[in-house]
Amino acid sequence: MTILDGKKVSNEIKDEITAEVNKMKANGEKVPHLAAVIVGNDGASLTYVGSKVRACERVGFESTMVRLSNTTSEVELLDKIEELNENKEIDGFIIQLPLPPQINTQKVLMAVHPDKDVDGFHPMNFGKMALDMSTFIPATPFGILELLDRYGVETKGKHTVVIGRSHIVGRPMSILMGRRGFPGNSTVTLTHSHTKNITQITSQADIIISALGIPNFLKAEMIKDDAVVIDVGITRVPDENSTKGYVITGDVDFKNVSKKVSYITPVPGGVGPMTIAMLLKNTLLARERHRASSI
Ligand code: NAP
Repeated sequence: MTILDGKKVSNEIKDEITAEVNKMKANGEKVPHLAAVIVGNDGASLTYVGSKVRACERVGFESTMVRLSNTTSEVELLDKIEELNENKEIDGFIIQLPLPPQINTQKVLMAVHPDKDVDGFHPMNFGKMALDMSTFIPATPFGILELLDRYGVETKGKHTVVIGRSHIVGRPMSILMGRRGFPGNSTVTLTHSHTKNITQITSQADIIISALGIPNFLKAEMIKDDAVVIDVGITRVPDENSTKGYVITGDVDFKNVSKKVSYITPVPGGVGPMTIAMLLKNTLLARERHRASSI
C-alpha cells in the first residue's frame, strides 16, 4: 500500500512555483497576485482563506484578503467583484464559498471574469474543461489529477467511481477522469444520494474518488482488493480530547480501508494541501496569460 502524500507533493509544487516567481523577480517582472473574498465569519472558511493567503506568502505571490460582513448585499458583492475584475494588479481571485443566504452564488460566480477565475467555477471555464480546451481546472480535481500523475497511478481503461456530484469536486472529477489522456481514459460512474446499491458499484471500482462529506462512509467491505482510494471529504467531527474541540475526518474508514488498497490519500495531508497548491498553479497560469496578452 502506498500513501499518496499530498503534503509532500504540494510542497514540491510550491517549490517549483517559488522558482518561477524568483525568475520573474530576477527579470524585474510583476509577480502573481491572488485576491480572496470572504463574506461573513464562518470558522472553516476563515481557516481555508488563511491557508491560501499563507501559501501565497510561501511562494512569493502578492495576496489580498477582502473581508466583507455577513450582512453584505448581493449588489455590494457584485460591485466588489467588478472592482477586482478591473484591477490590473490582481491576476486572479476567488470567492470563498459558502455565501450567506441573501446572495445568489450562481450569479456571483458568473460575475467573475473568466480570465481571473482561478477557481475554474465560471461556466465558460467549466465548458472549456469539458471540451478538453486549455483553461483553469477547479483546484481540488486538478490536485487529484496531479497526485495520480506524480505517483504514476494507471487510469487508462480503469473503472473510476466518483461519489458525489458537486459542481466543485465530483462533477468536474467525473469529466476529467473520462477525458482522453493521462490521467484519464477511465470508464467513469458518477454516484450521488439517489444511487441505489452503491456497494455493488464501489466494489467493482479500480479507482474510487469520494467527495460527499460523510465521515467514514466508505468501508473496507465496499471496495475490492488493490483499489485506489482518493478521499476528498473534510468534516469537523466533535472530539473533546482534541484541543480544537474537533478532529478533521475524511469520507473513508482509513484504518480498515488502507489494509486493502494499492494507493490511498490520508485525511488530513492528502487532497487538502493539493487543492491549495493547484490554486497557486492556476494563479501562476493567470499571471502568464495576462503577461502574454499585454505584450
Ligand atoms: P456537496 O456539495 O455537499 O455534495 C455532496 C455530494 O455527495 C452530493 O452530490 C450528494 O448527492 C452526494 N451524497 C450525499 N449523500 C450521499 C450518499 N449517501 N451516497 C452517495 N452520494 C451522496 O459536497 P462537496 O462540496 O463536493 O464536498 C464534499 C466533501 O469534500 C466535503 O466534506 C467537503 O468539505 C470536502 N471538500 C474537500 C476539499 C479539499 O480540498 N480536500 C475541497 C472541496 C470539498 P446529491 O447531489 O444527490 O445531493
